[in-house]
Amino acid sequence: METVWGIDLGGSKIEGVVLQPDSGQIISRLRVPTEGHLGYDHVLNQIRLLIDQLIAESGYHPSNIGMGTPGTMDPILGVMKNCNSTSLNGKNLKADLEALTGISFKLSNDANCFAVAETRMGIIKDEIPNASVVFGVIMGTGVGGGLVVDGKVIGGRQGIGGEWGHNFLDESGGKCYCGKTGCVETIISGPALEKYYKSISGESKKLKDIAASFREGKDTYAVQTMERLFSFFGKAIAVVINITDPDAIVIGGGVGNIDEIYTLGVEEVKKHVFNHRLDTLFLKPKLGDSAGVFGAAFL
Ligand SMILES: [Zn+2]
Repeated sequence: METVWGIDLGGSKIEGVVLQPDSGQIISRLRVPTEGHLGYDHVLNQIRLLIDQLIAESGYHPSNIGMGTPGTMDPILGVMKNCNSTSLNGKNLKADLEALTGISFKLSNDANCFAVAETRMGIIKDEIPNASVVFGVIMGTGVGGGLVVDGKVIGGRQGIGGEWGHNFLDESGGKCYCGKTGCVETIISGPALEKYYKSISGESKKLKDIAASFREGKDTYAVQTMERLFSFFGKAIAVVINITDPDAIVIGGGVGNIDEIYTLGVEEVKKHVFNHRLDTLFLKPKLGDSAGVFGAAFL
């Protein structure tokens, strides 16, 4: 039997899954630590170890493997780029893995994996299974996006398809790790919101406490921080809607967990969309942490 294989390469763990091709049922699911501090070659060997364990446990052999990574592979140069916390940048990850294992790999970033997993087996399949265009966003420590059309990830000529997090949004975000200024990520990521709160209140507070204070309505700095989030979320997402007009947008990550994104945030989106009404569905993801590894399998 031909099986479907996916690997999610994360900062602390590498997870792999072997699925039945039709039902998507799990045959094997295992994880190993990434141990990135031991260097790039060690990470490659950990991936090989995981594959060997999956082969031993499932009794199947992969002919190819989809893999989710923190950054993207440059499709022209073949090297990794935009990885925010690993030793992968500038490395020929795909070629090196293929040489090491003799298996062909398809790579995509974690937001793309999230988007395709929620489309094929998550909330989109449940709520709007005939959706043609789906935009998945992860708003957390970083901000990423993935565009899925007819069940397939749009990678793009440069491998940056769906990279919403680094669209320009507002100068006030300041410098981004990517080298540009005012990216979406510099305004609406969790750390950016906490930084903004501190800049106006002089006090450090975790995002979920800021959100709680906002709901109580007593902390004007929390209110200001959250209102700014909703306002900029609206501006940033409306750009995506005006270009791709997705059937649904799935929002993951810690910032995406804030319920008011779906009410007050969506009201702000309406102000900027080129239409009299807004029919786009805004949905919460269903798969949780598993989206990465299942999405990788669907690459
Ligand atoms: Zn950026």
